[in-house]
Amino acid sequence: MIQKITSVFILAAFLVACSKNALTGKNQLTLLPEGELQTMATQEYQNFLSTNKVVAASGNRDAEMVRRVGQRITRAVETYYADKGLTDKLAGFKWEYNLVNDAAVNAWCMPGGKIVIYTGILPVTQNEAALAAVMGHEVSHALLQHGNQRMSQGLLQQLGGVALSVAVANKPAETQNLFLGAYGVGSNVAVILPFSRKHELEADRYGLIWTAMAGYNPQEAIGLWERMEKLSNGQKPPEFMSTHPAEGRRIDQLNKYMPEAMTYYKPVGK
Ligand SMILES: [Zn+2]
Repeated sequence: MIQKITSVFILAAFLVACSKNALTGKNQLTLLPEGELQTMATQEYQNFLSTNKVVAASGNRDAEMVRRVGQRITRAVETYYADKGLTDKLAGFKWEYNLVNDAAVNAWCMPGGKIVIYTGILPVTQNEAALAAVMGHEVSHALLQHGNQRMSQGLLQQLGGVALSVAVANKPAETQNLFLGAYGVGSNVAVILPFSRKHELEADRYGLIWTAMAGYNPQEAIGLWERMEKLSNGQKPPEFMSTHPAEGRRIDQLNKYMPEAMTYYKPVGK
């Protein structure tokens, strides 16, 4: 009986939680208020930065590049949202971009635009436009609330669909693990949760648009993902590819999205 009531309650919560994503206009299942996740992200981001080796931006070319690319991608997103009358949807975003000294091939973006690039991914990106493609992809996951959907599912499956504040209060370690897993943060997470194919395609499509609007040639994304796939076949597949699986068809899809992205491309000087 209790179980039945619980499932009815959860179903009701789901119906209430079915919201439209501002970017795609499509319905999606987000149980958690994005604002609460942004608050959690602020704490988790600070926690991550204080326990990892952040490369100071002043005087370091790579860290400066990360900041420059981040700012350009942000401007692209803000312009796109403003053109569509969606600026209020970015109200909770307090963008930050940091490079951490870590050999893992990885990058991620927490809710509210908290971005980390690992130095280990730079030999794979090789150039600034490909780094923009990585950042554009990560930012898209955040804007499309993919992490929210993953976190919602995780809370439902593992902690019985309780509110985030209740989960944090009662099961802080488990909730933190769910959060880090949902956003693809770090190798210390117990379970690495790959984004679904649908999420990957959406992030690829919008990622190309931000890259182009930021003044970088989106076609650099092709070479980037080819290099990633090549690494995946090696002995130590990059962490990035376990959270962002390609299933071998990514390049075809990228080529399909490319004409749309190219309409946004206006190269700018470095
Ligand atoms: Zn992805």
